[in-house]
Amino acid sequence: MSKLHILAITAHPDDVELGCAGTLIKHACMGQKVGILDLTEGELSTRGTVASRRKEADAAAAVMGLGVRMNAAMRDGFFLNDEASRLQLIAYIRHFQPNVVITNSLADRHPDHGRAGRLVADACFYAGLRKIETTWEGRAQSAWRPGRVYHCLNDRVHVPNFIVDVSEVHEIKMDAIKCYKSQFHDPASTEPLTYISAGGFLENIIARDMLMGKSIGVKFGEAFNSENIPGISSLDSLLLPELP
Ligand SMILES: [Zn+2]
Repeated sequence: MSKLHILAITAHPDDVELGCAGTLIKHACMGQKVGILDLTEGELSTRGTVASRRKEADAAAAVMGLGVRMNAAMRDGFFLNDEASRLQLIAYIRHFQPNVVITNSLADRHPDHGRAGRLVADACFYAGLRKIETTWEGRAQSAWRPGRVYHCLNDRVHVPNFIVDVSEVHEIKMDAIKCYKSQFHDPASTEPLTYISAGGFLENIIARDMLMGKSIGVKFGEAFNSENIPGISSLDSLLLPELP
C-alpha cells in the first residue's frame, strides 16, 4: 500500500530536514505514514557528491523514522515549472495519494526553493483533474488532489499562517540535519566554505525554531504558510498558552 498521509516534496535533499523535519517526525510518531520526495539530487552543491548526498538523505530519513524517500532526479538549478515537470509530479502525487503536501517557501534566497514551492502547489491542483492522463509502472492513474498544501520556511523568515509545536522531537530533528555532514560545518573539511557550512548555521536553525516556538508559547516550533486560509473546527482546537 503506497498511500501516505503526508508527503513532503522539496527542491534539495536537506530542505525537508531544515524546514519541517520536526513536524514530519511528530506525525510519524503518531503512527501516520509520512514520506519525502526530493526533486533533485542537489548536484550543484559546492560540497559533497550526488552519491554522498544520497547516503546522507537516506540516513536522515532513517533518523526521522520515515519509510519512504524518493528522488525525482530533476535538474538542480534548472528544473522548470513546465508541462514535463508537472506531469512527473502529478504521477508521484497520484501514486502516494497524500492528504497533506508540504513543500518549499514560495519566495526564498535560493531561486530553486520558490520555483519548487510554486511547481509543487500547481502540480497538486492539476493532479485532481481527471482529464490529465498519467501512468505509474504502465498503469493508468486516477485523479487525486491533496486536501492541504503547506509551505515550510527555508532561509527567509515569512510571517507564518500557523506554527507547529515540535518541542518534543526537536532533538531528533537536529540529529537528522547532522546526517548531512558534507553540507554543514566541519572543521576538518577541505572543501570550500559555503553559506550553510560556515560556523553558526545550525545555531541559527535552533534560534529560528526557538523564536517560532516562543511565538506560540512552547520551546520549539516550525512555521508554515498556506495559500488557502486554514480552518479550525472550533476555538478549542488551538493550543492554549501555559498558565503562569
Ligand atoms: Zn535547498
